[in-house]
Amino acid sequence: MEKTILLKDGFVVLPDETIQGDIRIRGEVIEAVGNLSPLPGEEAIDCKGMYLLPGGIETHTHLQLESMGTVTADDFATGTRAALAGGTTTVIDFATQFHGESMARGLQRWHEKADGKCAIDYGFHMAMTEWNQSLKAEMEGIVAGGISSFKMYMAYKNNMMVQEDEIYDALEETKRLGATIGFHCENGLLIDVLVKEERAKGHLSPYYHPLTRPDVFEEEAIIRLEAVNYLLNAPHYVVHLSTAKGLSAIKCTRERGIGVIVETCPQYLLLDSSRYGSASNDDFESAKYIISPPLRERRDQEALWDGLVSGEIQFVGTDHCSFNFAGQKDMGRDDFSKIPGGAPGIETRMHLLYAYGVAKGRMDINRYSVVTSTNAAKYFGLYPKKGILQAGSDADIVVLDPNVEWTLTSDALHENCDYTPYEGFAMNGKIRDVFLRGRRKLASGKIVIEEADGQYLRRKLPNVDIR
Ligand SMILES: [Zn+2]
Repeated sequence: MEKTILLKDGFVVLPDETIQGDIRIRGEVIEAVGNLSPLPGEEAIDCKGMYLLPGGIETHTHLQLESMGTVTADDFATGTRAALAGGTTTVIDFATQFHGESMARGLQRWHEKADGKCAIDYGFHMAMTEWNQSLKAEMEGIVAGGISSFKMYMAYKNNMMVQEDEIYDALEETKRLGATIGFHCENGLLIDVLVKEERAKGHLSPYYHPLTRPDVFEEEAIIRLEAVNYLLNAPHYVVHLSTAKGLSAIKCTRERGIGVIVETCPQYLLLDSSRYGSASNDDFESAKYIISPPLRERRDQEALWDGLVSGEIQFVGTDHCSFNFAGQKDMGRDDFSKIPGGAPGIETRMHLLYAYGVAKGRMDINRYSVVTSTNAAKYFGLYPKKGILQAGSDADIVVLDPNVEWTLTSDALHENCDYTPYEGFAMNGKIRDVFLRGRRKLASGKIVIEEADGQYLRRKLPNVDIR
């Protein structure tokens, strides 16, 4: 018989209720949840006063991504180790097909980057940097191979941007296959115009970055995407939604009976555009916040929190795309448009959403588990293996102590990046233990198993019936 572990007397968090009780792990899976008596000789771990949560599922990362002549600071080894320390047990990264290559080739390169290096389980989305009929012909095989989500960009002209006829064609094919596409929604043509205008005026500091990507450009792209999809009603989702206006466009779409799923990120819930300074005080420090879409306003944050709690937004990924401030972000010291776009976040997501969602009384612990894990498992074809604490599921379990107060600092993080956007944040609740398929890899806040035993996940088709 495989050995068992009993997590004793915690608050077991389920999608709709929390029960006080125990979880028995046998081997890699959960054997039972409820009021359980210890077996003779069984290892029992006291979880009194602790929340027992399904391991976090991170829906949006760019690990070891080549971009703007450099490569992200976190690779699959450091990124997944940081994820583990932050209570995430599954990551879905964007494998990317670069210009002129097949998706199969892009996917093969991503397997070379990731296989044998991951501290947690992992899967891939397939991001496309262009559209053509040979990519279309590849989709069926990619889906059959366990990648049921694609990505297209409506921003980044001449680099990754696709347009309406291409989106229509791609959605027609993914609808036929039962797969989904995530869209980066910003108007790429107009962003380019505004960047040129600001640079021509000698406006080169990071302060000008968000001025080239106003909220209406996200709203407009969502409206355009939804117009393209209107006759198709194909499964699709909006990645990293950042604005109240964008969320209004989503609501409009749903009122017409068209389905759309939405992801947002901690940075859009917790940080605002004041991080970019002002025209008179344009410190280069704000390069740390050069991300796309950019940070928005307080009213956007409020709308996104409301949407997350009410079910208008279904899950939270981070868009973790880390570049060091020294040596990478400063490539754009003389021109904001040359600053590599992206910020770290893979390690802080679960803690931030607990501290600023649950502990602050914005959402209950059940909704927290749904938006950090369950919904992502369902939408990305991993449920019920992942995303739920029930008999037969993988024993991916987070033990969170709600009674710890602490301060978030970059030095204490495992992310391979010289800053965190959340430096100095006051935190409530700390993850004590993390189990990956029954192995307690994080104990008392320390990584105790360094082995890269993360497994590649072949995913099923999306379940779009989530809220
Ligand atoms: Zn991204």
